[in-house]
Amino acid sequence: MSTESSLRADIVEVGRRMYARGYTASNDGNISVRLGTDRLLMTPKSVCKGFMTPDMMCITDLEGRKLQGDRDPSSETLMHLEVYRQRPDVQAVVHAHPPTATGFAVAGIPLDRAVLAEVLTTLGSIPIAEYATPSTKELPEAVRKYIRAHDGMLLANHGALTVGADLFGAYYKMETIEHFAKISLVARMLGRENLLSREEVTRLQDLRGAYGIKAPAPICAETAEDESCQIVQAPAGGGRRLVPELVRQAAESNSAGEIRLTYRELSALIDEAVRSLR
Ligand SMILES: [Zn+2]
Repeated sequence: MSTESSLRADIVEVGRRMYARGYTASNDGNISVRLGTDRLLMTPKSVCKGFMTPDMMCITDLEGRKLQGDRDPSSETLMHLEVYRQRPDVQAVVHAHPPTATGFAVAGIPLDRAVLAEVLTTLGSIPIAEYATPSTKELPEAVRKYIRAHDGMLLANHGALTVGADLFGAYYKMETIEHFAKISLVARMLGRENLLSREEVTRLQDLRGAYGIKAPAPICAETAEDESCQIVQAPAGGGRRLVPELVRQAAESNSAGEIRLTYRELSALIDEAVRSLR
């Protein structure tokens, strides 16, 4: 069990890394961790995350009321509280504005294509929560729709949010999202983004257990309320693509060459594929 002093030091270190990597500018971003069962350790508002010290952190209760600290807690405290309410398993929350991932969030393009093994095994698909004014209670409402089935998401016209079973786990998911966004951007600039096959996606999802990854598999979560679309490329040239058999004909009759599936539909198709392999 981490002590309060070590958690304060860890928040300082994660803030320093986020600022050094350009994930935040000026006073952007915020970080929190659970402190026992009924309190949170939270970054203060109006502070550059690259230059924090352990004594700057605030302690709040699970309603966001400040219990301790010279400064006021982050202006995005409501968003953090909503995550902890919805996800008892989550111990830490990280919010930043990494430029490439935020570019996807501004363009309205979710990072939901099955192209990289490490993303599939750690995060699954990365949706975009609808735009909400920062620091208002609209933002937690937008996040609530996705957080039960996703450990990472983009926030439309704003940034990204990640959660984890510990602080560094949440932070590394932020790194993974930005890295994925950079790779995806390059692939799209090169004009092609080959998707992994359905069989490979299934194999990777099964590997989560072998890696000891307990995070839900967002792309096939039964509880997902998320109705946003997964774009699946049609099998032009018969390449190894993620195209469920049940919708192959629809793709071939679609002149745009793509299928749009909700996560729930995709979930059902992946579940079916897993059952057929057992
Ligand atoms: Zn922000």
